[in-house]
Amino acid sequence: MREIILIKNGELVLKGLNRSTFEDVLIKNMKKALHEIGEFTFTKSQSTIMAEPVDPDTDLDDAVDALKCVFGIVALSRAAVSEKDMEIIKGIAAEYLDEELSLAKTFKVEAKRSDKRFPFKSPEIARELGGYLLSKFNHLKVDVHNPEVTVTVEIRDNYAFIRGNNIKGAGGMPVSTSGRAAVLISGGIDSPVAAYMMAKRGIELVAVHFASPPYTTELAEEKVMTLLHKVARYSGPITAYVVPFTELQEQIRDKCEEDYFTIIMRRYMMKISEILARHQHCSALITGESVGQVASQTIYALACTDASVTMPVFRPCIGMDKVEIIDISRKIDTFETSIQPYEDCCTVFTPRHPKTRAKLEEVTAAEAAIENSDELIERAVKGARKTVIK
Ligand code: ATP
Ligand code: MG
Repeated sequence: MREIILIKNGELVLKGLNRSTFEDVLIKNMKKALHEIGEFTFTKSQSTIMAEPVDPDTDLDDAVDALKCVFGIVALSRAAVSEKDMEIIKGIAAEYLDEELSLAKTFKVEAKRSDKRFPFKSPEIARELGGYLLSKFNHLKVDVHNPEVTVTVEIRDNYAFIRGNNIKGAGGMPVSTSGRAAVLISGGIDSPVAAYMMAKRGIELVAVHFASPPYTTELAEEKVMTLLHKVARYSGPITAYVVPFTELQEQIRDKCEEDYFTIIMRRYMMKISEILARHQHCSALITGESVGQVASQTIYALACTDASVTMPVFRPCIGMDKVEIIDISRKIDTFETSIQPYEDCCTVFTPRHPKTRAKLEEVTAAEAAIENSDELIERAVKGARKTVIK
């Protein structure tokens, strides 16, 4: 039996965008997501994209799992391809949906006829096929309002498609229809979630991670790469930088007033990330900060952090509770990795009494104790190691 995957893209978000560009980007992203599973041909038709495996033995369960992570898809389903003949359609529907219908108690049939030459009108197709399925699956009842299984038959120009229930897609916008941004990624729970949320809005990701060996270990770095790999399932490939941060942190520790350590450190992170972001043609920075979570995330501290850069800073977790962020991290499978206990550079040299009501003038005055700031920043940027995470 010939089988394809039907993909519904989000029409509502198409408003400002050229639809064809949107779909072309979506197809490119789907090809990337399916790269390891098999080769597919894609056909655009109305608000649907059809994906057909070149090799009929391709594992479509794996393909559906991969496509469930692709942003810009509202719903998807596997479908059987049938000739446009009512008797053939009935036979294929009963065989193809055998398992789904055997397990269900209620169902209904929906028909869509875009080929008006087909001799049955949509309500007639639904009645014919519904009656046939009832005769084959004696236990089933029709429920038009709340069926367990909706059997859909679409009569298109060349073929008929038969499918069971839709599967929910990842929603959002296809990655790279909204430009590029650099996410400051730690090994924590929040920043991978922030990265995922901005990728969902169509932003292509670059990642910047600060490492401070020997205070932080290689295991911490590996953990970040694992997290990025998990985010990349949704965002597509991520160009990632690991920035050597030890020298700067030691300078902050040795020269600056202790209460300001964390804020000054965060300002340096932003400045270095902004430079790397520009190298990568990014137009914004992303962090996992949330108001009030820690001393460096009061609105006063965040204002001081923002003042260190000119790029806009996106903080999609800003108004979320920890439990809400954790829910998303579980959904995208980053939680278990995030809670592994490796030291992040943020937790070395933490002040005993961090300033929660920091004023920018005080912070910049404390920061001025580091005289060769530009040089240190330049060295960190030069020392950054780049990899592409898939
Ligand atoms: P997370 O769970 O994302 O680590 P957090 O609540 O632990 O966040 P902080 O450790 O204060 O908060 O970090 C705030 C934000 O700063 C992080 O969300 C991340 O964007 C950035 N950040 C922290 N540590 C690093 C790091 N080592 N490299 C790059 N960015 C970092
Ligand atoms: Mg952290």
